[in-house]
Amino acid sequence: MTAPAKSSRRVIAIDGPAASGKSSVARELAKQLRFVYVNSGAMYRAVTWFVLDRGINPRDAEAVTDAMEHARIECDLHDDSSRLFIEGTDPETHLRDVRVNEGVSMVSSVPRVREILVEKMHTYAREYDVVMEGRDIGSVVFPDTPYKFYIDASPEIRSQRRAAQGQADQIAARDRADSSRTASPLTIADDARVIDSSSLTIEQVVQQIIDDLRAKGFVLAARPQASVA
Ligand code: C5P
Repeated sequence: MTAPAKSSRRVIAIDGPAASGKSSVARELAKQLRFVYVNSGAMYRAVTWFVLDRGINPRDAEAVTDAMEHARIECDLHDDSSRLFIEGTDPETHLRDVRVNEGVSMVSSVPRVREILVEKMHTYAREYDVVMEGRDIGSVVFPDTPYKFYIDASPEIRSQRRAAQGQADQIAARDRADSSRTASPLTIADDARVIDSSSLTIEQVVQQIIDDLRAKGFVLAARPQASVA
């Protein structure tokens, strides 16, 4: 496993199960703090798209590993958000394809996939202050960060949220696979603050996080002054 990065940049880890609201929260928090937003789930999705596009069976861990060893994977930013290019292609428009939803838990359980992507996550945090969301950011990717949050919501609410997004996504099956795999399963880091977002708005969750950060001595950047014409 890759050694955790020694980063002088600040990392805010936001973990949680599928459709818990963590993406909306992480994106909004990054915007408010003017940090870079890193969506690690999108990185696993990008690799899954690549594997499927090459006709590789996502259950074939050896073939997946081999494809990863030979692929050119580059980190980039788009509007202060992470983007992964694979062999020069940005698969952004395919990340929510049904077949990617179905294959991503299998591909992300392959240890070599995790090693390569965790190294990319460390690269972002070497260059930028980041809000990074995922499943194992506080527990494995940046265990030393003092800023860890775990966003949860009831299974009913999470299914409703996915349905409202018009997405066919078997979130219960993905949660089971993500929590039971050997390599970096979804867990709540001991020192993470758990927030149940079931009956909260995105703004309320973001506010709870900001209050918690302040209590930990985190210095918030001054908000830009609204310009008056
Ligand atoms: O966050 P999102 O639901 O888009 O993540 C897609 C999948 O990527 C998850 O179901 C999980 O299998 C994988 N993932 C992971 N580790 C992360 C982030 C995502 O294994 N840090």
